[in-house]
Amino acid sequence: MRFDVITLFPELFTPFLASGVTRRAYESGLVEVKLWNPRDFADGNYRRVDDRPFGGGPGMVMLAEPLALCLEKILADRSRDGAPVVLFSPIGEKLDHAGVENWSAGSGAVLVCGRYEGLDQRFIDTYIDRQVSLGDFVLSGGEIAAMALLDAVARLQPGVLNDEGSHQLDSFNPALDGLLDCPHYTRPESWRDQGVPQVLMSGNHAHIERWRREQRLALTQQQRPELVQNARTAGQLTAGDEAFLARLAKDIELKA
Ligand code: SAH
Repeated sequence: MRFDVITLFPELFTPFLASGVTRRAYESGLVEVKLWNPRDFADGNYRRVDDRPFGGGPGMVMLAEPLALCLEKILADRSRDGAPVVLFSPIGEKLDHAGVENWSAGSGAVLVCGRYEGLDQRFIDTYIDRQVSLGDFVLSGGEIAAMALLDAVARLQPGVLNDEGSHQLDSFNPALDGLLDCPHYTRPESWRDQGVPQVLMSGNHAHIERWRREQRLALTQQQRPELVQNARTAGQLTAGDEAFLARLAKDIELKA
């Protein structure tokens, strides 16, 4: 798959693409990332890419023309393969696991990173297919959002995580019915007078799996009850799961 990223700060991506477990995905081209700077498509000595907003007010707005020339070049380079043009923006649909899985099964996209107050609306109206948000807060640029999407997509590619399939044990994964992840422990067995749940030291895999399932259920019920409800509606909770959740609810009632 191929992602083309339009950014005024391509240098931000260099360490990101060369670090960590996902590096292999980028270096092998499994997830190809091409960086494009609209400044290279801007006119004049100053290669201006922004200007003051019509109507007044603070901040600057990204000019439509350098963005359009840059994007046209990318679309030609991609042989107009129909890849979606995505703008990162607080007004977009929030990125979640299902969204990441869709991107990770697709053939890529053009990712547009905004800066300043945002982009001239006419560029958005002309070219943008989808807007994607990282959440209800405002970043100073779309680059971190682009890296978040690329990272989440790259780690889902086969063979990228060291342990094949380990992403299936992560939070939100349908393989674990969309529940949150359980707690993890490693050496030493006693750390600052705190031990490790005994069951994890028992070597009994069935007990360990049951404990992990219950931890996921308890944590998800506490933090994100709607995810437990989703799993229930999808018929993914066993009788054992329901009995555990009922015990949990009773314990909480008794404590209250
Ligand atoms: N004036 C805009 C914010 C501009 S922030 C507003 O109030 O909605 C500058 C750029 O950062 C945006 O163009 C966008 O590309 C990026 N950005 C900011 N917050 C974001 C978020 N929550 N998700 C994705 N991108 C974001």
